[in-house]
This record gives sequence, structure tokens and C-alpha cells, in this order.
Amino acid sequence: MKRSVVLYPGLGVGHLTPMVELAKVFLHHGAAVTVALVEPPTNSPDFSAAVARAAASNPSVTFHVLPPPPPAPADPSSTDNGGTSSAHHIVLMFDYLKAMCAPLRDFLRSLPAVDALVLDMFCGDALDVAAELNLPVFYFYASGAGDLAIFLNLARMDTSTTFAELGDSLVSFPGAPPFKASDLPKEISAGSPGAKPILGALYRLPEANGILVNTFESLETRAVRALRDGLCVPDRSTPPVYCIGPLVSGGGEKGHECLRWLDTQPENSVVFLSFGSMGTFPKKQLEEIAIGLEKSGQRFLWVVRSPRNPEGMLRPLPEPDLDALLPEGFLGRTKDTGLVLKSWAPQVDVLRHRATGAFVTHCGWNSTLEGITAGLPLLCWPLYAEQRMNKVFIVEEMKLGVEMKGYDEELVKAEEVETKVRWVMESEGGQALRKRVEEVKGRAIEAIGEGGSSHAAFVEFLKDLDNMSLP
Ligand code: UDP
Repeated sequence: MKRSVVLYPGLGVGHLTPMVELAKVFLHHGAAVTVALVEPPTNSPDFSAAVARAAASNPSVTFHVLPPPPPAPADPSSTDNGGTSSAHHIVLMFDYLKAMCAPLRDFLRSLPAVDALVLDMFCGDALDVAAELNLPVFYFYASGAGDLAIFLNLARMDTSTTFAELGDSLVSFPGAPPFKASDLPKEISAGSPGAKPILGALYRLPEANGILVNTFESLETRAVRALRDGLCVPDRSTPPVYCIGPLVSGGGEKGHECLRWLDTQPENSVVFLSFGSMGTFPKKQLEEIAIGLEKSGQRFLWVVRSPRNPEGMLRPLPEPDLDALLPEGFLGRTKDTGLVLKSWAPQVDVLRHRATGAFVTHCGWNSTLEGITAGLPLLCWPLYAEQRMNKVFIVEEMKLGVEMKGYDEELVKAEEVETKVRWVMESEGGQALRKRVEEVKGRAIEAIGEGGSSHAAFVEFLKDLDNMSLP
């Protein structure tokens, strides 16, 4: 009988996109797939647009929007600041996902048959729903094996939240090179309201029947080995880890103004700068980037967003006023060599365009995989969450990028932007880096092809699932 799976991506564009790619892999292997969507609690144009794009370009995937949860009674003992809307956005997100368990349960019960539930890393509360319904449950870990190795370990340490105090001292984890303690996500450091729910969610990962990871074995050999050897979860067994990536969106947006502009540019000549679905900078930093780009003399395509008020992480941003944000005359002076886009670019299509030559990235995992599979050298400028750790893996383990110095200080200076952009576009070192990424791109394609390591891992996962479902 045809297998039927429900994928539960939680909240956030960066989590939805790869889950939709996973849905396509299930379809390819003959399963019926439903993606159960959580509508963000606050209006999120980016998320709605991402859902609309995903649905339009994947008609064979069924999307089901879960109804909102019943309103929660105010609970003074809850993890937030007393159930008020002044709670931290991460706390609110986890509370909301917890509340979504009821609609998810009702939905799963309404289906004639479900063989497995696949969860996003932050949806640990849904493990209880799976247990109640006696369903095999898996995680889809949408970041890399290196992050997974560190987070599994970190979640089991009493001291994890004090790492921030170690600053630039090096810390070591199985599966990772030594790195600065300050490169751990600040969201999980002592005093951060998000630390408890994030670490709580990560603590539950080993409870699943298995973890699918959006990576391929040869990209992260050391981390995969540490996971398989059980070194990252010292106090219990690690479930099977299946490296099934890179699962990367196929793009396919046609006719966007920036693609037409790229059509007119020489091959490998344009530096693309984009900072994920949420990355923003203060005006001062935008000015430094602009000065650096102009001085570099290189062609560029740059996605600029309005600066964000730190309190308003979940609020939609207004359109940026480029004239007010960028140095006077910048847009006019660079009009023949550069293009600035407001808020959003069809990133995958841009990265794969023949004119694009390098990628300045915030090191979100999707962006990282999209850059690698486009064969582009990465200039790493991590901003938040696990991106600093990703930077460590990209620069030190994979050797597919270099860092923008100053990412961990107040400002990346214009001179740094100029120097690194010139280096990657003009120097022999930059050429060598591009060649190396091209080679890794080849391995990525091999991994997901018939007989490749990721393809084989998915087949093994399906076999394990079938064995679990046997009466
Ligand atoms: N993205 C895009 N256009 C933009 C910015 C982002 O298409 O202007 C897409 C990007 O291709 C990627 C996702 O949004 O698939 C961002 O995911 P990532 O994991 O890189 O970062 P996050 O947004 O989760 O920080």
C-alpha cells in the first residue's frame, strides 16, 4: 500500500522551504504527502508569500493549513513573562507551537491513514501527539550535521547557558573543530529568554525514531561520524541519522527584474549579497556596505531591508527607503554596475545565474546549501541563531568560504567589504576557492543522484519505516 506521511514544518520560511523539498523526495519515492502548515500568530507576508510560492510550484504536494489553536488561558507559571504579549518572540513561538498540538492531533485523527509524522526541530511537543496516536515519528533537521552534533550535546549540559561568559575562549564538541564560545547562538546563552525553550526542544530530538538531516555525508564527515558513534548524546542512544541532502529549492522564478539585469552582465562577474529571510542591518552598517561595494569596483546585486527594531522581530518590515538609508548619490553612481533590490530576491535563481560569481551570505543553512550547489564561493557574515557555528564549519571544515571580519563586533567596516569582495573576485585565492566549491557541488549532485549516499540513506530510512509499521 502507498505510504502516507505528514510533514510538520512549524514556523519560519527557512524551515518551510526545505520541508517542501523533502515532500518532493517522498513523492518521488511513491508516498502520499501532506504538509501541515501552521499559520504564524502575527501577520507574516514573507511566510504567506513562501507558502503561496511553494504551493504554486509544487502542485503535487498537498498543503493543509491547520486552524489556529484555542486561545490560551493566562498562566502565570508559564515560561513567558506571565502570559502577556510582551514575552520574548522565541518564547511566544514555542508557546504557540505547543498550543498547535491540539489542531495537529485533530488533523492527524481525521486522516484515513498516516504512516509517519515528520517534525521540524522546534516542534518537539508534537512528539507527544505522535506517542498518543502511536505513530512513528522522525525529525527533519533543516540545518547541518555539525550544528546537530553540537546542539544535541549542548542540550544535555547543565552549563550550556554559561558559555557566553567564555567569550573568545575555544570550546570543543565531538564532531566539530574547536571554535570561539561566542560563536554559539546568543539565543541560548544565560539570561536569554529563548534559552530554555530552545534547549528543551533540542533535548527531545533523540526521542524520535530517527533524524533526517539536510546534508550529505562527504560535506560533514567528522560530524556525521560523531553522531553515528553516539558521541553527541552521552546519556542515551542516538536514533539513526539519515543524511539525505542537499535538499534545495529548484527556483524557477522567471522574469524578475534582477534576473533580466543579470542577463546583461558578464559571466561570474556579480557579487550577490543577501542575508536570509530575516537579516537586517542598521543604517550605519548599510552605509559601510555601500561604500565598500562602490570602492571595490565590482558588480553587485544586493538585497536591502529596512532596519529592524530588536523588539519587533515578528513584525513585518516596511519597504526600505533606499535614498534615505544608503549614502547620498550611491544609487546613481553605481547604476551601471550594481542593482539594489528592496527586501527580497529570487535567491536560488540569482545564485544559479551564470553572471553571479560570489555570495555574501548570513550562513543560514538553506543559503549555505544553495550557494554550494550553485558552485559559488561564500563570504560569510553570520548574524543570528546558529549562523556563527555554520560559519565555523564553512570556513574551517569545508573550506568553502572566508569570513567577513567584524561580524562579531559592532560593525563590518567598508574596507573589509571592499577587500574581501576584491579578493574573491580578482585574486588567485578567490579562483582557487571557486574551484573548490565547484568540486563540492559535483559531490552534492552525486550524493542525491541514484546510488549516491543521500539517495541510499533515504531508501534505508523508508525500509526502517516499513519495518516499524509492520503489525
Ligand atoms: N530567500 C530568498 N530571497 C531573499 C532572502 C532569502 O529567496 O531575498 C530564501 C533563501 O533562498 C533561503 C531562505 O529564504 O531558501 C532563507 O533560509 P536560510 O536558512 O538561509 O536563512 P533563514 O532565513 O532561516 O535565516
